Amino acid sequence: MKIGILGGGQLGRMLIQEALKYDDEFYTLDPSSDCPCAGISHFTKGDFNDYQAVMDFGKDKDVLTIEIEHVNVQALEDLQKQGIKIIPSPSAVKIIQQKILQKEFYQKNEIPSPDFQVVRDKSEVNFPLPFVQKLNTGGYDGKGVQVIRNEKELENLWDAPSVLEALVDIEKELSVIVAKNDKGEVKVFPVTEMVANPRLNLLDFNICPSEISDEIQTQIDEIVRKFIQAMASSGLFAIELFLDKNGKVWVNETAPRLHNSGHLTQEGNSNSQFEQMYRVVKNLPLADTDADKYSGMFNLVGEDGYQGKAYYEGLEEVLKLPKTYVHLYGKTETKPGRKMGHINILADNRKELLEKLTTIKSMILSLIHISEPTR
Ligand code: ADP
Repeated sequence: MKIGILGGGQLGRMLIQEALKYDDEFYTLDPSSDCPCAGISHFTKGDFNDYQAVMDFGKDKDVLTIEIEHVNVQALEDLQKQGIKIIPSPSAVKIIQQKILQKEFYQKNEIPSPDFQVVRDKSEVNFPLPFVQKLNTGGYDGKGVQVIRNEKELENLWDAPSVLEALVDIEKELSVIVAKNDKGEVKVFPVTEMVANPRLNLLDFNICPSEISDEIQTQIDEIVRKFIQAMASSGLFAIELFLDKNGKVWVNETAPRLHNSGHLTQEGNSNSQFEQMYRVVKNLPLADTDADKYSGMFNLVGEDGYQGKAYYEGLEEVLKLPKTYVHLYGKTETKPGRKMGHINILADNRKELLEKLTTIKSMILSLIHISEPTR
């Protein structure tokens, strides 16, 4: 089968890596000819936001999917009309692309998500402080999101269509990945817990299973059930959640694709999110998602102050460590904060996992330099 992916980043790369054990041909579309998928797929250089580029790329594929949601939806809709199978559905991508539509979707379907106001520009702002401003389009990895805490900070408001959202008093950030195939089969991965890096806003580390009560798990199960029913699309979705200090779970946002918070499934679960995505795309029976042990993950991000050729100093020391798995994305260029790879770690219990994560993370900070060679 000819499987096309819009986007050639690390998510697509790890999907292809997993799926190469089966018999399919992978095609990718990305503006950068040295993107992580270029060397391991039939690669087309082009812009996945451009209508014609997506039409030309998609027209001879059996199925087309995405590894980034900022793609040309009109082209997806038209390709679907021509009989090309699109996963997830173009309408799901459209809802999720725009923060305003996404928030309205949660509201309409009674999926708990923080209170909000929609504004076209800053003259319309009329929402109790403190709040979070989220640009309707163009946000990514914490960009396009800012907290407005007081009257003084109102000066910083962006003058663009956005959502103003109540600031949640966060106890924990959680994530749950759910997959649905065309047969209507649904499988959910165990909930993971995240700790954000306040400086870069990229995930700092991510652990599984999360430490949550049965009551909180029930709230999450209900969110997943409503989400899947309302979205009415095959696909793999990552629902990012906030658990507030009063024990209530809120949806922050959803990605209609593979997700950073699912990387630890590579070694942590019976099957990874990548295996599951492949099965969704092919409408195969969905894989079991159990976690045998405790797993944790952190991103390897480009160092501050360096831009240029990537160089991983000290990688061999890390490879000596037991139950520690290095994944690099084949990005030749590093720049501050760029996701260059990740490390998964397994442990027998939560305490051991947290200790290992803390130790290895600090070791890695001093061992691995993702920068230009210093000598
Ligand atoms: P992105 O799409 O760029 O990942 P998010 O909407 O996930 O942006 O926001 C980035 C981070 O900002 C979240 O992980 C969370 O820490 C914080 N944040 C976002 N919305 C809220 C909110 N309503 N209340 C408190 N913190 C928030």
